[in-house]
Amino acid sequence: MTTATLAHDNLLEVRNLRKYFGKGSHPVRAVDDVSFSIRKGETLGLVGESGSGKSTIGRLLTRLVDPTDGEMLYQPAASEATPRDLADLSQAQFRPLRSKIQIIFQDPYASLNPRMRIRDVLGEALDTHGLAKGSARKPRIEQLLQQVGLRPEHADRYPHEFSGGQRQRIGIARALAVEPQFIVADEPLSALDVSIQAQVVNLLGELKEQLGLTLLFISHDLDVVEYLCDRVVVLYLGRVMEIAPTESLYANPRHPYTRALLAAAPIPDPAQRRVVPLLQGDLPSPANPPSGCVFRTRCPMAEERCASADMQLREVQSGHWHACWRDDL
Ligand code: ADP
Ligand code: MG
Repeated sequence: MTTATLAHDNLLEVRNLRKYFGKGSHPVRAVDDVSFSIRKGETLGLVGESGSGKSTIGRLLTRLVDPTDGEMLYQPAASEATPRDLADLSQAQFRPLRSKIQIIFQDPYASLNPRMRIRDVLGEALDTHGLAKGSARKPRIEQLLQQVGLRPEHADRYPHEFSGGQRQRIGIARALAVEPQFIVADEPLSALDVSIQAQVVNLLGELKEQLGLTLLFISHDLDVVEYLCDRVVVLYLGRVMEIAPTESLYANPRHPYTRALLAAAPIPDPAQRRVVPLLQGDLPSPANPPSGCVFRTRCPMAEERCASADMQLREVQSGHWHACWRDDL
């Protein structure tokens, strides 16, 4: 087990992470040997088609599912001598870290108890971690509501009395209640009207700055990712195809898969943003991925050697990595 310290500005280093669902000879390889890092205070985007393993990575980092293999090294403060391997902690050992690492879901309504007033939803989150007790409770709840753009009197309402955008704000307030350091946002805009999405994106960006949060932003909306994220990880069939600073990725995508994602022509109607287009052909089954480069069966540039290649990420420019051996792209 590695316990080397992390590069000094990293909050998290994911190394050779795997999550296989099911046993037997053909488990679903939802996440297959994935490595990337997350710097303190950055917003890292995670993109890829549906089924590429994005949510599974979010659920692994928050230990909603247990990894099959690999490391998730977490170092909240440089003063701590060694990082903790989140993959190696039992659920009981992870519990104290739960307040530091929070997740926001696509549909907050599904995770809000319809019979609970918002005051109790937030109170429950505070209680779980023994925060804002007694007379500190009411002002803290009002502060949380204000932070997400709601009003103090909203505390006494029930989830069904809110619009979709407001419910997502409540989901964000609930995550913030426990004073997290790191938030995974898994498609937090997908259930919202386009007109509301920009408000929630701006709120996330503002809160991140104000509270010094680190964010993993999972999305299939490439325009929002370009707007919000500092760096981007491109995932395909449970594997990383490319990692780069946002500007570098959008200006100069290196991997044929990233190029295919970005190839969708700009749409004149600003309400219709660029979302991950369907590539030709079906996504292969993650229970039976292609040999060599997993993208080769849909890659316009595929050659014979791709079938037997052991593709690893290579750094082609400072901070810009991709898993294709062609340099002429
Ligand atoms: P994404 O969020 O990118 O759409 P997911 O992480 O949800 O992708 O899923 C990746 C793959 O893992 C998919 O093939 C999905 O069907 C499979 N998968 C996810 N969760 C489970 C599970 N609990 N049991 C079995 N297969 C799963
Ligand atoms: Mg998902």
